[in-house]
Amino acid sequence: MATIFTKIINKEISADIIYEDDKFLAFKDISPQAPIHVLIIPKKEIATVNDMKKDDIDIFGNLFFIAKKIATEMNIDKQGFRLVMNCNEYGGQTVNHIHLHLIGGRKMCWPPG
Ligand code: 5GP
Repeated sequence: MATIFTKIINKEISADIIYEDDKFLAFKDISPQAPIHVLIIPKKEIATVNDMKKDDIDIFGNLFFIAKKIATEMNIDKQGFRLVMNCNEYGGQTVNHIHLHLIGGRKMCWPPG
């Protein structure tokens, strides 16, 4: 089912886009939890990690690769950053279109809340 992220992909609502190619999009989170908070998404609609098929393995790999490139471009690669993908209610997922959070620019805590 289409989500708000489909509207961002289709440019029906605006977002601060920092990367785009034919299959992926990355944009700043509207409610940043750190100085740098970027969401990397595939244009293909996959609701949750639970819906991942074997054919989707490349998509997940590319999300990480794009995150790495953005982290380097934003100069947080050496100090470090966090990559998170939430799944369903207990994981804290609120938008049912898979997305990798790239969070950085401050020291992270562990364990997460
Ligand atoms: P989740 O909780 O599903 O892991 O993460 C969803 C993220 O999407 C949240 O961090 C939330 O702030 C962000 N978000 C929700 N709606 C919008 C929107 O319309 N624009 C942008 N840029 N981010 C959004």
